Amino acid sequence: MSRYAHDRDEARRAMSGAPFSVLRLGHRKGRDPRITTHLALVSRALGADQFLLAGDKDDDLFNNVASVNERFGGAMSCEHITGSMGWLKRFVQSDAGDGEPGVAVHLTMYGEPYREVIPRIRRDRPIVVIVGGAKVPGDVFKYANYNVAVGNQPHSEVAALALFMEAWHGEGGTERHFPNARLTIEPSARGKTVHDKADESEE
Ligand code: SAM
Repeated sequence: MSRYAHDRDEARRAMSGAPFSVLRLGHRKGRDPRITTHLALVSRALGADQFLLAGDKDDDLFNNVASVNERFGGAMSCEHITGSMGWLKRFVQSDAGDGEPGVAVHLTMYGEPYREVIPRIRRDRPIVVIVGGAKVPGDVFKYANYNVAVGNQPHSEVAALALFMEAWHGEGGTERHFPNARLTIEPSARGKTVHDKADESEE
């Protein structure tokens, strides 16, 4: 990554430095591991600070994310939560982790267009973006500050999250630099160029 891109990335973080979390509802350990892992990887790659899992506990999934962090850097943490609606109510009404309310954005095909909503969302408070599972409790619509659609057609939670986060961060939102990365990929038109800090430190 160029020095300019790195500085721009840091500046963007400083401007919108409030913690960004993703909450995945209704995870089923036996049935959803792949799609929920993809949600966690998109969250990490596009700059989330925390990935919250409701539904089944899944240590394999969390270990998978930790292994990606170890190799490619970043510090997104993962946490399993119980009582997701109680958690959400507290987050939006009283305590987003610092004793003040946060902002909850629910991704749903029934919501308002995401590009119209994003400019209205305050950026100075912790935000949680909620993605549903097989069944979405009706209370999510009530507690969320914004019910947001990425098009009003049913599709994928992974696609909805990626498009929302790209729009939230603006142009270049997918270009993330993780300072503690062991492996970094040098973009190339053909082939795979990967730098391994461990090899370089031996030289
Ligand atoms: N059957 C579920 C329900 O009760 O609504 C929805 C299943 S859908 C595959 C899973 C999740 O993908 C949804 O809860 C939502 O978060 C996300 N999703 C799917 N299509 C979307 C869209 N057009 N806009 C925003 N989010 C969407």
